[in-house]
Amino acid sequence: MYKVISFYKYVDIENPESFAKEHLDWCVKQGLKGKVYLAKEGISGSIFGNKEKTDLYKSKLKSYKIFEDILFKETDTNQIAFPKMHVRVKDEIVNSGLENVDPQNGGKRLSPEELLKFYNEEKDFIIVDSRNWYESKIGKFKNAIAPNITHFREWPKVVESLKDYKEKTIVTYCTGGIRCEKASAYMIKEGFKDVYKLDGGIINFINKYPHTYWQGSMFVFDDRKILDPNTKEELKYIAQCEFCGKPTSYYINCHNIDCDKIIIICHECKVDNDYCCSDECRRTENKRDKYYG
Ligand SMILES: [Zn+2]
Ligand SMILES: [Zn+2]
Repeated sequence: MYKVISFYKYVDIENPESFAKEHLDWCVKQGLKGKVYLAKEGISGSIFGNKEKTDLYKSKLKSYKIFEDILFKETDTNQIAFPKMHVRVKDEIVNSGLENVDPQNGGKRLSPEELLKFYNEEKDFIIVDSRNWYESKIGKFKNAIAPNITHFREWPKVVESLKDYKEKTIVTYCTGGIRCEKASAYMIKEGFKDVYKLDGGIINFINKYPHTYWQGSMFVFDDRKILDPNTKEELKYIAQCEFCGKPTSYYINCHNIDCDKIIIICHECKVDNDYCCSDECRRTENKRDKYYG
């Protein structure tokens, strides 16, 4: 059994380039795999390995004063989540285009316990998924608004469409909480009065309360592709294969490199359609050579 730990923190990093270099060297030396992003505004990342290695990483990161209070979210897996180790410097730790939004002025933190209580007590609240359409397509919270966006940069458009709810209680959520830092801060800036962000994101919630208000699977940006927290049959799937309509959470990118569209598809239809979204894509020459999953 392996672990994937994910983490982020918005904090000023004076020289992300030199930190990145030193950090990559150390990670490679320890045989760690994963992806870490650094920017002047902070750090985010996921690390994959056995318990011993991920514990080692946690204590290393916490040994820096600026990261000593960082929150790690964990999932167990039998799959190889990351084949390599990358440490990269970027302008933002999540590309948002919301450079003028200060995450320090974000929504109030809502714990998984509190969200569970909101649902159990049928509180009057609006829950909004801050992820992309292909993420919420295969899994989301009960009654959540799932915006039709393909990139987080489109968030202002989503907030504009929610402007009638400015007086309501709003809860935003994403995979690990990072996108909601700026998403919720942007809503407050736009005049929303009572905004919460789900602390630790979906991962934190489903680790504590599986089989409750999360429906379907969780999309992850690593080689595992999805996590399936629900064993209860009625909560297992919310999506259907685009070809045959069978319930599934599985997805691929169309094998036509120029198309690359995400398709929700069952394994049988995937093979039948040669990993492509359409007849046109199937006939093209410029296809991925590697078959996966
Ligand atoms: Zn199918
Ligand atoms: Zn295609």
